Amino acid sequence: MAKLKTKFIFVAGGVMSGIGKGVTVASTARILKDYGFKVTAVKIDPYLNVDAGTMNPIEHGEVFVTDDGMECDQDIGNYERFADEDILRGNYMTTGLVYQSVINRERNLGYGGKCVQIIPHVTDEIENRLVRVAKKSKADFVLIEIGGTVGEYENLLFLETGRIMRLRMPGQVLFMLVSYFPIPKMVGEMKTKPTQHAVRSLNSAGIQPDFIIARASVALDEVRKDKVSIFCNMQVQDIISAPDISSIYEVPVNFERDNLGKRILQKVGMKAKAKNFRPWNNLVKKIKEAKEPVKIGIVGKYFGTGDFTLTDSYISVLEAIKHAAWSLNRKPEITWLDAEVYEKQPAKLEELKNFDGIIVPGGFGKRGVEGKILAINYVRENNIPYLGLCYGLQLAVVEFARNVCGLKDAHTLEVNPEAAHPVIHTMADQIGKIKNKEMGGSMRLGAYKCQLAKNSLCAKLYGTNLISERHRHRYEVNNKYRKALEQKGLVLAGHNPKHDLVEMIELPGHKFFVGSQFHPELKSRPLNPHPLFVGLVKAAIGK
Ligand code: GLN
Repeated sequence: MAKLKTKFIFVAGGVMSGIGKGVTVASTARILKDYGFKVTAVKIDPYLNVDAGTMNPIEHGEVFVTDDGMECDQDIGNYERFADEDILRGNYMTTGLVYQSVINRERNLGYGGKCVQIIPHVTDEIENRLVRVAKKSKADFVLIEIGGTVGEYENLLFLETGRIMRLRMPGQVLFMLVSYFPIPKMVGEMKTKPTQHAVRSLNSAGIQPDFIIARASVALDEVRKDKVSIFCNMQVQDIISAPDISSIYEVPVNFERDNLGKRILQKVGMKAKAKNFRPWNNLVKKIKEAKEPVKIGIVGKYFGTGDFTLTDSYISVLEAIKHAAWSLNRKPEITWLDAEVYEKQPAKLEELKNFDGIIVPGGFGKRGVEGKILAINYVRENNIPYLGLCYGLQLAVVEFARNVCGLKDAHTLEVNPEAAHPVIHTMADQIGKIKNKEMGGSMRLGAYKCQLAKNSLCAKLYGTNLISERHRHRYEVNNKYRKALEQKGLVLAGHNPKHDLVEMIELPGHKFFVGSQFHPELKSRPLNPHPLFVGLVKAAIGK
């Protein structure tokens, strides 16, 4: 068998979580891609959940969906956005998934009577998965983010796999530690000690990092770099500053300022094949130069946990709005609007007039639904540009059925299983799954083709009649009501050619009123903004 030439870069976190490991992986992938290499990235979540689909997005962030239908961590979204590469199912793994395969194999006598052990059988399973990613993607570099921080029990096994891989593939495996450097107020200076401990912790797992990505509010000064160099046993030039910045898309530019890409290539003995930094640098310039605002409101059900977690729950929607706005030289101003407020105080709906465009994003369950329907009614009647994503399409259909078609108690069966007019109903293949509580990884997931109606606005926006978009839902427009909806002027602008499902709606005569049963936000990229979001922003700024 030909020797695998792929280089693997493991990225672990030190000191605390939430400091940007995902963006580090994504940015490094971008840099290596701009040096002319084929890259891909893997996310490892050290949970027992088999995938991210059953995890609460309020606690864990958005569930991202790949083309091949894997429900995975939101970091995969960042990898796709930065690297502008589609990531597949095999690039996401959890402890649960890894153990599940080892146990299944054991039950099928796959270990030939051996005592099945965490080392080597589980670590081998992890390594095999990473090697499969390398082969399938044909990538020169596979970046691997290990969730959590070093020193936790949960991710030790993955560090151990990295250590073994470095042993087995000398010169092909690197380690990066993304660590935090606090500046405590009462001390007034940046402290390196927590990072020193994190490196020690990594050392005790048998790993010396090749790079430290130094997350802090400001760049590290020479004194700090020297200190880290001595105490952590590293060259000064391998300590890369990662100060806080206003846009994450600036991170690759900052990393290259500290020569991260060049140092990686040196360490693995490779030469740059190209230097394609211009498109990304132009993007960063555009982001910085955009001054004139476009105001987009997102109407959703909100929780008492503050805006911070919400931002994570809808990260792809937010990024898609930004990509579109920047491409039109606008500064995106995004506001969260609480649907439940409209239920209690309908007069508050007037505030929707202050926005250039409104989005109702994906969602599940009952709470806030009537408020969302009221908001959709308001933007439809007041000619305010509207984009409905998944639930946002379904509730737009409910609103239209109720208020235009006169089907007063029209609803989705998800909220009212007894609705007299179930204009949104359970998909045929979902009925049994819901009944038997088979809820893990069982929605309609991943990419499906969608045929767009000739001369529709949707077809015009996409510039083609056949598209492919990603789904995550159990309910659908009820075909029995198609005629009633169409007779009153709703255009069912997109449908699944195989199963004849309604996938897109639009309302002619309105400034912009479009809904999609899929999640276009999952495919928006900063260098390639999504046509539906571009359409919304264009309408919002009166173009
Ligand atoms: N709750 C709806 C469904 O399951 C919409 C899902 C979504 O918005 N992702 O069909």
